[in-house]
Amino acid sequence: MRSSIHRPTRIIVNLESIRRNIRNLRDHVGSDPMVYAVVKANSYGHGSVRVAHAVQGLVDGFCVSNLDEALELRENNIFENILVLSGISPRDAKLALEENISLTIPSVEWLLQVIDENREEDLSGLKLHIKFDSGMGRIGVRCVEDINEIIEIIDKYNFTFDGIFTHFATADEASQTKFEQQEHAFKSALAGMERRPHFIHSTNSAASLWHPDTIEDIIRFGDAMYGLNPSCGNIELPFELEPALTLESELSHVKLLEEGETVGYGATYTTDSDIFVGTLPIGYADGWTRNMQGFDVLIDGKRMPIIGRVSMDQITIQLDQEYPLGTKVTLIGKNGNDVITVDDVANKRGTINYEVVCLLSDRIYRTYINE
Ligand SMILES: *Cc1c(COP(=O)(O)O)cnc(C)c1O
Repeated sequence: MRSSIHRPTRIIVNLESIRRNIRNLRDHVGSDPMVYAVVKANSYGHGSVRVAHAVQGLVDGFCVSNLDEALELRENNIFENILVLSGISPRDAKLALEENISLTIPSVEWLLQVIDENREEDLSGLKLHIKFDSGMGRIGVRCVEDINEIIEIIDKYNFTFDGIFTHFATADEASQTKFEQQEHAFKSALAGMERRPHFIHSTNSAASLWHPDTIEDIIRFGDAMYGLNPSCGNIELPFELEPALTLESELSHVKLLEEGETVGYGATYTTDSDIFVGTLPIGYADGWTRNMQGFDVLIDGKRMPIIGRVSMDQITIQLDQEYPLGTKVTLIGKNGNDVITVDDVANKRGTINYEVVCLLSDRIYRTYINE
């Protein structure tokens, strides 16, 4: 879908904030691990190609969640290492090899299928990372026997044993118990591994911030790179992160409603006095979900409540006075002396900041500052 370039609703991404978050992370961890920018899901809604170009040179590689996201980067001249974090369809392995994209082995069975479905192809050199399930319960092998069986297959077929990695379920929580269990399981598996791959890695944003002593070869840096706190504010940050994303719109309509009139579908809101009501061209089709009813937006540094139901393409807000058409409205970000954070939106919805930014749809035009 083409983004709505002529509509005044826009995401503004400050690319320098993203770069600063990476530099500050490198200072924080002190040692010199590689950093892979996690740009899956359109860079958590920030725009994967633009973000990737902005951080090229500052990072050592990229992580995505599927093959198409990787191919999009290659088509846009991103020549660094790219790792696909989930298991792709085995039949597409050749495409990954041709584009020098590293794949994740989620199971022995997957690897055997890759071989089986590409019998006619020469896949030698295919770069593979074994996923070890240390306690996430999602993809990955669970025992050292599977790891060593995979290594034997890798050697037999001349694949490249590029890496082994695991993923933490609770690195963003204050309690250490589960994290330490997973770390221990991973270390035990590594100890029984027949030989070492190029890269061992387990660190996501949360682990890089709060467990920097556990970093191995690569940090897979996602949420925090965009300036978001992976614990959604539950754990204090060791250094300041700069949120990169602002969401703005403009008043597209202003009217005076008299006392006793209703606003929106379902007539869920009735005015209790004469008030000015403003309309903004954004709705649930943009990822501004229906449960944002009752939340605020900012005009001139002042909070204005969203009244009535959120429609597909529009929301209505109560104004404290008449404003001209085209007045700037901030939905996420700073406006005057006030700010609405992604965490504020997430708290209102009972979700996490990751989901808020990922849901911002392709219809919203994205614009970039500090290329
Ligand atoms: C998404 C993802 C990451 C990045 O996580 P953040 O919390 O955003 O840093 C790292 N590793 C894997 C396997 C992932 O799926």
